[in-house]
Amino acid sequence: MPDRTKLHGRVVVITGASSGIGRAAAQLFAREGCRVVLAARRGDVLEEVAAECRRLGADAVAIPTDVTDPEAVRLLAEGALGAFGRIDVWINNAGTGAFGPFTETPLEIHSKTIEVDLLAALYGAHIALAQFLRQGEGTLINNVSLGGWAPTPYAAAYTAAKFGLRGLSASLRQEMQAHPRIHVCAVFPSMIDTPGLEHGANFSGLRIDPGPHLYTPEDVAKAFVRLARAPRDETAVGWPARAAQFSYTLARGPTERLMGAAIRFALRRALPAPRGEGAVLHPTPVGTGVSGGWLARKGIPPARTLDLATLGGLAAVGAVAALLAARRRA
Ligand code: NDP
Repeated sequence: MPDRTKLHGRVVVITGASSGIGRAAAQLFAREGCRVVLAARRGDVLEEVAAECRRLGADAVAIPTDVTDPEAVRLLAEGALGAFGRIDVWINNAGTGAFGPFTETPLEIHSKTIEVDLLAALYGAHIALAQFLRQGEGTLINNVSLGGWAPTPYAAAYTAAKFGLRGLSASLRQEMQAHPRIHVCAVFPSMIDTPGLEHGANFSGLRIDPGPHLYTPEDVAKAFVRLARAPRDETAVGWPARAAQFSYTLARGPTERLMGAAIRFALRRALPAPRGEGAVLHPTPVGTGVSGGWLARKGIPPARTLDLATLGGLAAVGAVAALLAARRRA
C-alpha cells in the first residue's frame, strides 16, 4: 500500500492556479515533487506558473479552463489523465467575489459568482470523485472561506455559494464514508493577501480594504499540502475563521448584527472607488502574482507573525502572574 504521507510523484489538479492561493499551491506542491495540473482562464499566465513549477523540479501541465463550463472541466480531467495517468488530489480553488448592495449589483454578476464558487466545484467534484472511485483512492479539497461559516454582509452571492460549498463538501464526505481511502476536505481561510479583491466585482462605489489581519497565500497552500498528506474534514486557516464559526453557531443573531454594523461602519469611512465587474465575467490581465501586495503597501507583518507575538505576550504575562502568585504563597 503506498505511503500517503509521501507526496512525491502524486498528481495534483489545482483550479484557479493563475494567481493568489492557487499559484502559491502550485509552487508548494511542485516543491514537494508532485506532478501538477494547472487550470484557470488565463492560459499565458498558467504557462508562466507551469514553467515556475518545472524550475522547481516538478512535472507540470497548464490546461486553460473556464471552470463554469462542465465540458471544459471534463477536458481538464482528461488532460490530467492523458499526461499522468491518474489523479491523486483535486483542489477546487478557483473563486471570485462580488461586493456591494444586493439590488445594485447586476444579476449576471451574482449568478456568475455562484457558478464559479459553487457550481464549478460541483463539476470538479463530479469528475474527480468518479476517477477516485475507479482508482479506489484520492483526496478532494474544496477551498471554502470564513464566509462559508459566517455570512459576509454586502456579499450575498459569495455567502450563498460558500455556504453551499460547505454543504456540498459535507454531503459528499458522508457519501464517501464507504470508501476509506477517498477523502473530501474543506478549507476555511480567514482574510488572505491575494489579488482576489482586485479580481472581484465591486458595486459599492467604495474602496474595499481587507483590514490589518492578513494571512499569506502560502499559509493556505501549506494547509492544502497538510491535507494531501493527512486528510481532515474541515480546516481553518487563521483563528478569525474559527472565531466566526463559533460565534455564528453559538450566537447567530448577535453575530449577524455585529458583522452588518461593522461593515457599515467601515463603509462610512471608505474612500470612493469606481464600480466595476472585475474579472468575474472575463479574465483581466491584472493581478497575476501570489500576493495581492496589501501587507507590503500597508507595511504590516503577516497575521501569523502577529498571532505568534500575541501568544508570546500572553505566555509572558501568564508566566509573570504565576511567578507573582507563587511568591505571594511562599
Ligand atoms: P485570486 O483572484 O488571486 O484567484 C482566483 C483564481 O480563480 C484565479 O486563478 C482565477 O484565474 C481563477 N478563476 C476565476 N474565475 C474563473 C473561471 N471562471 N474559470 C477558471 N478559473 C477562474 O484570489 P484568491 O487566491 O484569493 O482566491 C482563491 C480562492 O480562495 C477562492 O475560492 C476564494 O474564495 C478563496 N478565499 C480567499 C480568501 C481571501 O481573503 N483572499 C479568503 C477565503 C477564501 P483566471 O482569472 O485566470 O481565470
